[in-house]
Amino acid sequence: MLYALLGSALAQDPDVLVFVLDTMRADHLDLEGDATPELRALAESGVVYTNAHSVSSWTPPAVMSLMTGQYATTHGVVEGPIPARARAEEEGRTVLPLPVLDKKTSTVAQRFRREGYQTAGVTTNHLIDGPQGFSRGFTLYEKLGVDDSIVHDGPEHVDEGPQQWSLEARGMAPAPAEVVHGQLMDWKDELDTDARPDFVWVHLMDAHMPYRRHGDPDADLQTAYASEIAYMDRWIGRIVRDLEMQDAIIVVVSDHGDAFGEHGAWGHGGDTRTYAEVNDVVLFMTGPGLPAGEIVHEPVSQVDVVPTLASLAGLEKHRNGVEGVDLTRGLPERPVFGYRGGLTSVDQGSWMVVRDDWKLMEWNGGSALYRDGDETSSLLVQKPDLARRLGADLDDYRSSVVLREPDMVEVDADEDTLQGLRALGYLD
Ligand SMILES: [Zn+2]
Repeated sequence: MLYALLGSALAQDPDVLVFVLDTMRADHLDLEGDATPELRALAESGVVYTNAHSVSSWTPPAVMSLMTGQYATTHGVVEGPIPARARAEEEGRTVLPLPVLDKKTSTVAQRFRREGYQTAGVTTNHLIDGPQGFSRGFTLYEKLGVDDSIVHDGPEHVDEGPQQWSLEARGMAPAPAEVVHGQLMDWKDELDTDARPDFVWVHLMDAHMPYRRHGDPDADLQTAYASEIAYMDRWIGRIVRDLEMQDAIIVVVSDHGDAFGEHGAWGHGGDTRTYAEVNDVVLFMTGPGLPAGEIVHEPVSQVDVVPTLASLAGLEKHRNGVEGVDLTRGLPERPVFGYRGGLTSVDQGSWMVVRDDWKLMEWNGGSALYRDGDETSSLLVQKPDLARRLGADLDDYRSSVVLREPDMVEVDADEDTLQGLRALGYLD
């Protein structure tokens, strides 16, 4: 597929709007029904990637890959503040061992700002913070606080997944999309009066636990999850319209999905490995230079977003330091990878490679081969040659990893930050 044919339709310096939908499973983008009408309308006006993969199973590595076009094993931001939590609380804070994006690596916001864009980013995830490099390149940047006005009754679903749902008892939740909309409206005058084209990055947490905020409080977990996505969908439509960015290049992508016990684990990160429920992500793009109604089934990765966006917006030198491919130029036959683990050793952790219709997973003490997204039974025994080929891809990927210790970073572990981490379930 070659969208370059649409080159004549490329707008000059188009506005760009990126939605990162935290924790939205790929199978919850409803392209046939009315569960997510705003997302469906946007998706139908552009190109939908139905076989898109996260680089990891949780937020910091995935978002940094969306910002850099590099795999997590390259940009190195594979850990958040979790390993340092005890120190932060017991010592009253100070310096935490956190991986930080290398100064030589450009974020997508830096790339756009260098080329004359006004850059604005808003996040409701406390892990997406300045010290690790997530705010780099944004002229306007806001990390919105926890919404502690929302009170939940208690852990009625604790049995379904203790780690995940215990936070419902705490009665805290990340700021909802309506609050994000308010922040963007506060910036709108500045964005409108500035003569530069706009690059706007919006990170929404509504699909992240706790779920029961906008639906039936007695609903089961998966229904509650879908209710939050429906709520988020409505606000995505309002954000596009109220920012008057209907003609912008719009990218919608999730950082990872969420497990509901499919393979014995709940939530994401943790021990969820790299199964489809956490590693398949929503990805579609619409706007100038992109055809409408296109469906792409070939495997793609979050690392492809930066080079594709840069190409669509006509940025110079957008391939520097990027491992993904420009999706407007057609898809080469290639493997895409996922990894959940640290960088001090690669002997642990969970690895994934997808090539064509096949996916190989390896983790400490196990492996599995799956076809066509059916992850109910492994075909390792039936397809040894394929397993060997994909295993060689994984070996190549592993051998590219530069082992390193996290940097020591000063972070502001004030009560607001700690509260934010608690709201994500990262502090007890
Ligand atoms: Zn996330």
